[in-house]
Amino acid sequence: MERKITLVSVGKVEKKIKEALIQPLKEEFQCPVDTRKGLDIPSQAFSEERKQYLAPSFLNKLRFSFHPEGEEKVLGITGVDLYVPQLNFVFGQAEFGGHFALISLERLHPCFYGEPEDEKLFQKRAEKEAVHELGHAFGLEHCSEPECVMYFSNSLRDTDRKSHSFCQRCRSLLDKSG
Ligand SMILES: [Zn+2]
Ligand SMILES: [Zn+2]
Repeated sequence: MERKITLVSVGKVEKKIKEALIQPLKEEFQCPVDTRKGLDIPSQAFSEERKQYLAPSFLNKLRFSFHPEGEEKVLGITGVDLYVPQLNFVFGQAEFGGHFALISLERLHPCFYGEPEDEKLFQKRAEKEAVHELGHAFGLEHCSEPECVMYFSNSLRDTDRKSHSFCQRCRSLLDKSG
């Protein structure tokens, strides 16, 4: 089965960042990367109490809106802050070995932490999160190699340290999948 990745914005997302992700994703996954018309933020996702959005509602909306087959993966990209019930926030979420993955850009901006905005750093972070969540969709688990993009990021310090690429072991697992 041919691999394919489709990028979809959910809610308002700068076109620039979607476009910036295309080339790195093509290189990491060695497959075509397309963009599709964006979706609205799922209406039930907002938590008034937490002022955040429930990540699984976004995955559900993607599932409802797209019907990928074979090795096609759909990556949702949103600008709003995501959570799951047991965690303060998530950078993203994915169906393990499934079709859908999701990233939030909100916490990848240096200005979220009161630091000066840095477009390059922001793009690098988005790239790593996108490769990481898509890696899960392609069936990869977390990796203990701190340099590997599949290393679990507990904080942005982990994200900034790791590379945007797979270690040899993850790369060969990825090559065997699909
Ligand atoms: Zn992960
Ligand atoms: Zn690895």
